[in-house]
Amino acid sequence: MDFYLQLEKEMKELKDSGLLVNIRTLESPQGPWLVVDGKKVLNLCSNNYLGLANDQRIKDAAIKAIQRWGVGPGAVRSIAGTMAIHKELEQTLAEFKKVEATLVVQSGFNANQAVIPMITNENDAIFSDELNHASIIDGIRLSKAKRYIWEHKNLHSLEQQLISASHENFRRKLIITDGVFSMDGDIAPLPGIVNLAKKYEALVMVDDAHGEGVLGENGRGVADHFNLTEEIDIEIGTLSKAFGVVGGFIAGKKVLIDYLKQKARPFLFSSSLSPSETAAALEATRILSRSEELVIKLWNNTHYFQDKIRKIGYDIGKTETPITPVMIYDEKKTWDFSAQLYEEGIFASAIVFPTVPRGKARIRVMISAAHSKEDLDFALSIFEKIGKNLNII
Ligand code: PMP
Repeated sequence: MDFYLQLEKEMKELKDSGLLVNIRTLESPQGPWLVVDGKKVLNLCSNNYLGLANDQRIKDAAIKAIQRWGVGPGAVRSIAGTMAIHKELEQTLAEFKKVEATLVVQSGFNANQAVIPMITNENDAIFSDELNHASIIDGIRLSKAKRYIWEHKNLHSLEQQLISASHENFRRKLIITDGVFSMDGDIAPLPGIVNLAKKYEALVMVDDAHGEGVLGENGRGVADHFNLTEEIDIEIGTLSKAFGVVGGFIAGKKVLIDYLKQKARPFLFSSSLSPSETAAALEATRILSRSEELVIKLWNNTHYFQDKIRKIGYDIGKTETPITPVMIYDEKKTWDFSAQLYEEGIFASAIVFPTVPRGKARIRVMISAAHSKEDLDFALSIFEKIGKNLNII
């Protein structure tokens, strides 16, 4: 069959099975309210946890950087693309994270590709939580290491895998987990993971994309939350969620970062962040370092919304963070719910199979420090109305 006909056939299959992603277009900047495809809606689905994506201080820093450094980095970091501002960001991030060094790359996705295949090969074993993010999964695929997938957050399952691997003579063992799981909002059992890592002589790597700016003192992340910064070998961060900008980073010991500067393919073969992105991320890091105000606001909003939505009668699973899965269970009802939300002026994502198991469909609500009490009350009243319409509560 002709290539393009094959693509059309697959697209039709996606559409018929309800899996075709509808990509909406924003006509406004990020914020608690958006204009989406011409309609004003309350934003309950972006990762702009602290409301920094359209913050005036950060925009000013980005504009200044364009005037000082221009718009493009001109090259990859290892040739002529490392500007003083990149080094300043890495130094400031290292101080914020309380680690020896960091390496900034183009995205959180790339940060995983920049570490996992560089430090593991066919002589090594990787232990991965079954719900780890796609960028970890792809990083593991690139590494050629032997994979052991353990049941979500189940330390017994992890230990079983470590025991079975101990019969083989691996050079390195690497345990990888998300810090906060993005579909359920639950937190990785890091203290237990660290204990097992010590017992079985494994390294620990945490992808804290959804913990950064949310957990720990001043939003330093999940390792700080558990007071385990010293015990974590590799931390992955993103600058695109709570930091409000774009980019990713790896945090750890100086020797690891120096090694990655020689080896990491996204660092060596793809151009660096632009000066404006770098300056914006630097300003966001400084804002977080200086004050806990936004993190406190985020948690106040989270507790307010989650207490009330539970009282209305919804199940929000095992969330421990601002990620709030409002469980609808049934796929079809979830699509109806999401369409009615949009009609009523609320933008929140329907999360269905295959992203989550069948029968576990939900509307995922992302709380932000930028929401006002009135915004959250509006959302709660609409969730109550639709839930009653659809006989869910
Ligand atoms: N890791 C995790 C756990 C994530 O949730 C995400 C974002 N969806 C990423 C990595 C990728 O981050 P970025 O958007 O910066 O590429």
